[in-house]
Amino acid sequence: MNIILPFILNDGLLRGRFVKLDSLMSDALCHQHHPKMIEQILAESVTVALMLSSFLKYEGLFTMQIQGKGPVTLLVVDITSEGKVRTSVRYDEKLLPQDNKKLQDIFGTGVLVFTVDQATQQDERYQGVVELSGSSLAEAVEKYFQSSEQILTHLLLFSREKNGLCQTGGLVVQLMPDNTSSNEKRLDAFETACVLADSLKKVEFFDEKLSAEKLLFRLYHADHLLLFPAKQVSFACRCSEEKVKKMLRGFSTQELDAMYQNGEIQVDCQFCGKTYCFKKGEWE
Ligand SMILES: [Zn+2]
Repeated sequence: MNIILPFILNDGLLRGRFVKLDSLMSDALCHQHHPKMIEQILAESVTVALMLSSFLKYEGLFTMQIQGKGPVTLLVVDITSEGKVRTSVRYDEKLLPQDNKKLQDIFGTGVLVFTVDQATQQDERYQGVVELSGSSLAEAVEKYFQSSEQILTHLLLFSREKNGLCQTGGLVVQLMPDNTSSNEKRLDAFETACVLADSLKKVEFFDEKLSAEKLLFRLYHADHLLLFPAKQVSFACRCSEEKVKKMLRGFSTQELDAMYQNGEIQVDCQFCGKTYCFKKGEWE
């Protein structure tokens, strides 16, 4: 089961997303070999990116990047409007922290960048950039919504390893801009939703007998919970021979000359691990 389940509470005063990913992360990571710490941050990043993309209406590609100056220099998650997800990461293994997994220890100073490329409108590109702050990715995203969008947001992320597979997911609730209810009522509703969200235990979240719908009902049955249809998501890469050829055509002869090994240029896709090999000029 790999799903995003949208919901609203208190007649639309609050909105939320429940994300649970089983096979998706294993599919996305089986071509990549990373230390556990990196797998965990990728799992959390994919969950966050799914939450954010699902708040937006788009036809095309949503991309979330974390650019850092620390051990991890670049983390990318992209999601098509059809729900195809892929991720990649660049880091220096020697510099990774041992136990301390605070966000700043992993990325150093960094920025979170969101972009939406609409497939239908060539020049319409939404971009959001925010400094990476807070001690966890969840906190960083809460701060992003508070400072850039003025939307109170609460986010919980879970990840674990089971039988060598990476499982992940989480829950996000947001207070919607609303003029009809008093500020006090709105803040009260948000506060309650946060306390209830925080009561969700990791063991409950990963309990295979509890569906997403059941878990949400347990938490929010007294808050006019309204569920929308769940969206299925899956891992898929969009690389192709044509795209790699196009990329090679963008390099100078000098740059290409430095890439040859045994008379061939080999390009490995960072997302899915697929290898493309070209002899001289085959990309023309
Ligand atoms: Zn690929």
